[in-house]
Amino acid sequence: MSEKKEKSAGELLREKLVMKSKNGFSKLSDEHLAVIDAYCEGYKAYLDASKTEREAVIAAVALAEENGFIPYVKGMALKAGDKVYLNNRGKALLMAVIGTRPITDGVTIAAAHIDSPRLDLKPVPLYENTELAYFDTRYYGGIKKYQWTAIPLALHGVIVRKDGTSVTVNIGEDDNDPVFCITDLLPHLGREQMSRTAGDVVRGESLDILIGSRPFKDDEGSDAVKLNILNILNEKYGIVEEDFLSAELEAVPTYKAKDIGFDRSLIGAYGHDDRVCAYPAVTAILDAGTPAYTAVTILADKEETGSAGNTGMQSAFLEYFIDDIASAFGEKGHHVLSNSICLSADVNAALDPLYPEVMVATNAAKVNHGVCITKYTGGGGKGSTSDASAEYMGKVRSILDANDVLWQTGELGKVDAGGGGTVAQFIANMDVDTVDLGVPVLSMHAPMEIVSKIDVYMAHKAFLATMKRD
Ligand code: MN
Ligand code: MN
Repeated sequence: MSEKKEKSAGELLREKLVMKSKNGFSKLSDEHLAVIDAYCEGYKAYLDASKTEREAVIAAVALAEENGFIPYVKGMALKAGDKVYLNNRGKALLMAVIGTRPITDGVTIAAAHIDSPRLDLKPVPLYENTELAYFDTRYYGGIKKYQWTAIPLALHGVIVRKDGTSVTVNIGEDDNDPVFCITDLLPHLGREQMSRTAGDVVRGESLDILIGSRPFKDDEGSDAVKLNILNILNEKYGIVEEDFLSAELEAVPTYKAKDIGFDRSLIGAYGHDDRVCAYPAVTAILDAGTPAYTAVTILADKEETGSAGNTGMQSAFLEYFIDDIASAFGEKGHHVLSNSICLSADVNAALDPLYPEVMVATNAAKVNHGVCITKYTGGGGKGSTSDASAEYMGKVRSILDANDVLWQTGELGKVDAGGGGTVAQFIANMDVDTVDLGVPVLSMHAPMEIVSKIDVYMAHKAFLATMKRD
């Protein structure tokens, strides 16, 4: 053993003054890492059950009810410790635990979204071309279209029949199910295609899903393959072609969430954005006990298309819910909102060493460095974003540090590289102090996205610590 050398003045000063970002593996004990791995098994199960916003609501409601949450009924009396949820049209969810402080002290909000980029069937989706049957689609959210060909797809959603009854569709997930696929051009004949820009290599109208090739037998009429598909759908789901007009069917990758890497430190899955924040936002409120401030978890729909519509964060449903809770205490909703704080729980881009040119390393989130606080999103000159105040950043920092949450900060790429937004701006617009906090993701919006297990768990810890603030 060598003698302990005294630290130089420079070393001491560096320790005192210079900001450090630490990889979680250098800070966390083996026991802590085992807790993190176990937590992520629950997350993977949630992912596999929640490939669409509707399924994500169903899975979250199940967790809520197991933990004593009951449906909120307009006008119901509320007291500290009460746990309620409100299912907004099956596609968005509000959960609340009533705190001990007066409601006008404000609430703590964690707001994630549960929709992910995918391919939606058009209202008239089914057609036959050259004796092959297809579903015509329109993509939902920001995708690189070329990533969606030649991968196995499942269909999830709901069809409402003319008589008002509905049928749930989930096909392609079970090992015995057939799957679906979008064809791509063979490289041998792809010379013209490969000379196009990447956004144009596969065009939106080429993203049609191959669904069959076998004609209805004993039929000399036209479109016998389509007829046969309709017959199968009629037998399986009791629907006719017109019923697609009142349907929401979403094509998503079939694969399940998997550990990535020999060391199993990462998770690859479809739809981390933003279930990787939704799940921790749910588990945090389940673990929050009876907090001082009322805690609210929001799982919103439609973020990937701009948060419009009655299940998106631009809708009044949050405002109405807060107003209802305030009314239970004889108070006004906006008096509650003005004193509330929000963690806008959404993912950020992780620094990808294969594509360093779009990031500034000092201001980029790194895999395994913990949950990422993003002061502002947007792009260019901070367009279309809510920029969290220094005061609120200071408050969140101190909560996270006091609770040993591993966290880092990150911008969404270089100033002029592009940009994006989250629901933060819509909640901030309600006079709520809001900042983005979420998990860094590699290959964001790809059919398989990648996150670190440490970072997922730190999102849970961050939401929990904030909900339990005193
Ligand atoms: Mn997102
Ligand atoms: Mn997204």
